[in-house]
Amino acid sequence: MKVMVVDDNINDREIMFELLNAQGYQVTCASNGVEALDKIRKLKPDLVISDIMMPQVDGLGLCRELKRNRETINIPVIIYSSSFTDAQDEKLVLEVGAVAYFRKPLEIAIFLKKIKDIINQYRTGKIAQPMPGILDEKEYLSLYSQRLMKKLEDKVIELENSNKKLEVALSELKTIDRLKDNILANVTHELRTPLTHALGYVELAISETDDAKRKEFSRRCRDALLRENEVIAHLIEAAYAEKGLLKPVKERIHVGNMTNETIKALWPNAQARSIHVSSEIEDNLYAKGDTNQIKHVLENLLDNAIKFNVNGGKVEILAKREDGMVKLCVTDTGIGIPEEKMGKLFEKMYQVDSETTRKFGGIGLGLSIVKYIIEAHGGRIWAKSLPGEGSKFCFTIPLQEET
Ligand code: ADP
Repeated sequence: MKVMVVDDNINDREIMFELLNAQGYQVTCASNGVEALDKIRKLKPDLVISDIMMPQVDGLGLCRELKRNRETINIPVIIYSSSFTDAQDEKLVLEVGAVAYFRKPLEIAIFLKKIKDIINQYRTGKIAQPMPGILDEKEYLSLYSQRLMKKLEDKVIELENSNKKLEVALSELKTIDRLKDNILANVTHELRTPLTHALGYVELAISETDDAKRKEFSRRCRDALLRENEVIAHLIEAAYAEKGLLKPVKERIHVGNMTNETIKALWPNAQARSIHVSSEIEDNLYAKGDTNQIKHVLENLLDNAIKFNVNGGKVEILAKREDGMVKLCVTDTGIGIPEEKMGKLFEKMYQVDSETTRKFGGIGLGLSIVKYIIEAHGGRIWAKSLPGEGSKFCFTIPLQEET
């Protein structure tokens, strides 16, 4: 059984050759319609399997030529293609006299079975011999150009879509590039500022003879170093979160105690700006989670609520059971966040005010870590805000039922 494989793609040709050869077929290959016609006339194969899109004479032209010639009219032709794939294409393939149309890629076993079936059906006369000249030249050319136009239109649409995707990717890259510059400027700024302060106070302390003043300088130096420590801790934490290493250890958390401890820790910050912090926590409210991590979340939210507040403003922490979870909200009367910036709030290194001259310190990692921690606990975090009126950040974490 002699089979002719026609395909301009060398890999497709080789695969077909090996596959059919292994089945005992005597396979000859050609890389285009002209070469195929020449070989077919000489070798008279029992079956031709041809691709469509090929240089010189394509698969449809080859099939037409074979069906026009009395010597080759009875050789069954199977057309297979990955580009002519809709129903109209299939119709055209059959109209030029092909016996079957396969869409690439076809599973090997199915491909071999179909070939076997077609050869058998052809031999036993179950498939009618195609009539020569089913389509006259004019009709064929018109149908063919329609199909080609359709392919071209599809390609143009595909290109336009790819172009749009590229434009989006380019603009995202530009944003990332800008973000990278901001990050560098920010991180450098946030690391250098407390360090410069600490060095300044150490210098002052060294040359100060007055004991009380020296003590005060040393205290300020310590505060600056604590701030430095905090920035470094944030960077390390973000790197851990990135690598998925912030695994929560599930413990029983007394929400009231945790809230009081957090308020106490940030009390000096609030007091320095006359901000009133209050809390309302449901009695006997316990959460299931990593105490340090959840405390860290609350500290972050409270710290922001104070930092982005107005002097003399208010912060309120509310916690209660809701839908089998603990829901905790931190509400402030601060500067608020513009609506268009809300979508990116929990993204890494995002800051609503990204200018290096901005008023508030921070590297924009806090909320991304907070979101990571809450989601690792199986909870959810969200925010609502009105510029000039304030913000409300809420999160949920699993409730620890009392036993
Ligand atoms: P940062 O280290 O800059 O505070 P965060 O990730 O904690 O980073 O917050 C990201 C940004 O979200 C902040 O820079 C600020 O612009 C905005 N933001 C966060 N919390 C508040 C809030 N309570 N009120 C107004 N803006 C806020």
